[in-house]
Amino acid sequence: MFNEDMYKIGAKGSDIRELFEYGKRRKLEIGDDKVFDFSIGNPSVPSPSVVNETLIDLIQNVEPTKLHGYTSASGDNYVKSEIANYINNKYNANVSKDLIYMTCGAAASLSITFKALLNPNDEVIVIAPYFPEYKVFVENAFGKIVVVNSKLPSFLPDFDDLENKINENTKAVIINSPNNPTGVVYGKDVIEELASVLKKKEKELGTNIYLVSDEPYRELVYGDAIVPFITNYYHNSIVCYSFSKSLSLPGERIGYILVNSECVEAIKLYKTICGAGRSMGFVCAPALFQYMVPKCLGYTSDINVYKENRDILYKELTSYGYEVVKPEGAFYLFIKSLDEDSYAFSEFAKKYELLLVPSDSFGVKGYIRISYCVSRKQIVDSLPSFKKLIEDYNK
Ligand code: PLP
Repeated sequence: MFNEDMYKIGAKGSDIRELFEYGKRRKLEIGDDKVFDFSIGNPSVPSPSVVNETLIDLIQNVEPTKLHGYTSASGDNYVKSEIANYINNKYNANVSKDLIYMTCGAAASLSITFKALLNPNDEVIVIAPYFPEYKVFVENAFGKIVVVNSKLPSFLPDFDDLENKINENTKAVIINSPNNPTGVVYGKDVIEELASVLKKKEKELGTNIYLVSDEPYRELVYGDAIVPFITNYYHNSIVCYSFSKSLSLPGERIGYILVNSECVEAIKLYKTICGAGRSMGFVCAPALFQYMVPKCLGYTSDINVYKENRDILYKELTSYGYEVVKPEGAFYLFIKSLDEDSYAFSEFAKKYELLLVPSDSFGVKGYIRISYCVSRKQIVDSLPSFKKLIEDYNK
């Protein structure tokens, strides 16, 4: 007998992945340009040139046994110190290189963090809509997800609901800003309110409540939105960062965990994170991509391309009658489903070769998510289909 929980996760892919796989099959049947696949968040803008320049330089000039060898389990010391310096200068923060743990992207950062934080039946609060993999990572560490609502139409956290749901079993709260799937950015006032609720509850309950900030979209903001740096606002905080989206490197698997030096027992927590990484078989993060990081800090792929995609889609879809949350960051649009049952609507949209992710697995019903990190051609070519879809639905 195999592990039943793992079988369940493996036998059925996520809704996003299932639609993505359907898209690949459909493209073989009718041609790539006939299918409008908005399912997956794979960056469509190439990495900034500094990425390849740095990699070439490393390959030509660093001794291969070092370049492709193991690094320290927690990451290369110079790489960690450059990350800490960059963060301290940019955000006027006070983070320590000795509390940074290099990882294989945000997915690894999160799963290691929960493995380190949680004892069986500890609760982790997620704010709906939330990235579906949180449930997988938390349950793998024998924790329990507790869903807190957002307020509509802003999709900001409902702080009353949050206060009500925090209890002595609450170990952590996850936030993700800029947000997948809504694109909403939590500004300074939201983070301050969140920090004040958590501090109040910690005091009331006599416990530590960790704020886990999942930040693969940190740099992907449009217009004036500012993403506050979480360690400046809340002591028991942990940043789970990834270069997947900022540098368009999701296949290379590189990111880090940062423990706030003001965390209660920060060093013990950090060592527990090292233990969790070890127990999960993350020997070290990919060496070549660790060494790439110092020269690439502060660079991003050209995010104007995403902004223009957002602007075209938002303008056109709202003009056809779709109800859309205007995103300030990331590269997703969250659209009110025309049918209460968003699975049924997603199925119906396939008639127009539109692949739209139903919102249920994000913890809310009645919406669909579009990833607009796709070619401009796909955006423009898909518009008539979006128009026909709503006209057909409203008949
Ligand atoms: N968290 C969120 C909110 C995401 O959207 C993603 C990927 O799409 C991840 C984590 C995982 O990112 P990574 O590729 O860095 O593992």
